[in-house]
Amino acid sequence: MPYISVNPATGEVVSSYEDHTPAEVDALIALAAERAPLWRATSMVDRARLMVSAAELLEGEVPVIAEVLSREMGKTFAAAKGEVAKCAMTMRYYAEHAPAMLAPRQISSSASRSEVRYDPIGPVLAVMPWNFPLWQVIRFAAPALMAGNVGLLKHASNVPESALLLEGLFRRAGFPEGCFVNLFVPGSRVAEVIADPRIAAVTLTGSEAAGRSVAAAAGSVLKKCVLELGGSDPFIIASSADLDRTVPLAITGRVQNNGQSCIAAKRFIVVADRAEEFIEKFSAAMEAVTVGDPMDPATVVGPLVSAAQKDEVSEQVADALAKGAVATAGGSGIDGPGFFYRPTVLTGVTTQMRAGVEEIFGPVAVVEVVADLAEAIAVGNDTPWGLGSSIWAEDEAEQRQAIEGLDAGMVFVNAIVASTPELPFGGTKRSGYGRELADVGMYEFCNQKTIFVA
Ligand code: NAP
Repeated sequence: MPYISVNPATGEVVSSYEDHTPAEVDALIALAAERAPLWRATSMVDRARLMVSAAELLEGEVPVIAEVLSREMGKTFAAAKGEVAKCAMTMRYYAEHAPAMLAPRQISSSASRSEVRYDPIGPVLAVMPWNFPLWQVIRFAAPALMAGNVGLLKHASNVPESALLLEGLFRRAGFPEGCFVNLFVPGSRVAEVIADPRIAAVTLTGSEAAGRSVAAAAGSVLKKCVLELGGSDPFIIASSADLDRTVPLAITGRVQNNGQSCIAAKRFIVVADRAEEFIEKFSAAMEAVTVGDPMDPATVVGPLVSAAQKDEVSEQVADALAKGAVATAGGSGIDGPGFFYRPTVLTGVTTQMRAGVEEIFGPVAVVEVVADLAEAIAVGNDTPWGLGSSIWAEDEAEQRQAIEGLDAGMVFVNAIVASTPELPFGGTKRSGYGRELADVGMYEFCNQKTIFVA
């Protein structure tokens, strides 16, 4: 299937590109493989200089690039500008901090000198999703390139403009050809790329189905694989929560990126003594969220990415309503053109309903009422996923109880879950394995080489 960019606010096709042929893919992998040893030999100073140049380009073109993202996948223009700025900030962060992260770590042992070095491993394939079309790629590429690896991007097939923009960005910044290569290949051909002996490792951000395929393909050729998959993050409202602070952030946590974020708060678990107040305030605020053209500054929620995604969310909600759930806000899509869905709050959801057991990738919140914090944590953990989680409590003992009890890769206290260049990002259980960002994320694609000098 070709790469097709459709504006989700209108349904119009913006552009389309043919997939690369096998011969073209072979030539592109060769380009990366030939560059890898040369790039590995460059100094950290040179890598940092190029990374800062790329950051400067982004900073100088924020509105132009942001408009590409908004038109291609529907995020609001304000959110897109924020994404571009965050990418530039992250590139600067790794340009500055990678040298210290990658400095050999001295360890005392029976050797006269022993240490761990962090050597690059070569060409790394990055299979990426459309929802943060710039950020997901940069959070892989900035640390990986600074570590001396080269990257090959297989972007989602609905964001070709973002993919080309990224490839062009690195070239314009002065990165040599082959450091960052764009491949237009469908998911069905990813296994062939992974199996190519010139590819050292693979990272995927995406769905569980893609995760299984990529992990199987990497496993069959024994290659390193990092998986950042889905989630259904709990947002726990404890007795001591400050609701005036919590409710606006509950809205942002659910509707950010038009509800299409892996780390969006998806299940709002509230203790009984705060339930009535929370549901009332939260539902009223969700109902008041402005839905519309992503380029309009008044818009908070733009369209879903595709007609298929709108259908999926519509079916998940309709199934819940048919089986007895109640929509205290929203509950339906908005007639076209474009793929808009009303911000929705569902109560009375059970595990017999799709909304009770599936990830909802849209602006739909499921609210669950529990007796106390211990039950909230148990319900929060009662899911196949373990990506992010948040606890909303003023009381330190309640905060500690949740930090210790939640089985997730990340626990945020009185803050919505977010990624930031300084902190490791990743999940447990079916949300994947491995980490991105920070030193531990960088080491995923390094040979952590032990040196022993007698
Ligand atoms: P998706 O279908 O898995 O697509 C993600 C990427 O994987 C795309 O490049 C896609 O290519 C590719 N792909 C699809 N099937 C594949 C296969 N069998 N083998 C190899 N590659 C394959 O994901 P999505 O549904 O668009 O994205 C939403 C999901 O991603 C949600 O579950 C969300 O929670 C998760 N996500 C996780 C994170 C995280 O950091 N943990 C971040 C963002 C999103 P094509 O487009 O060509 O199919």
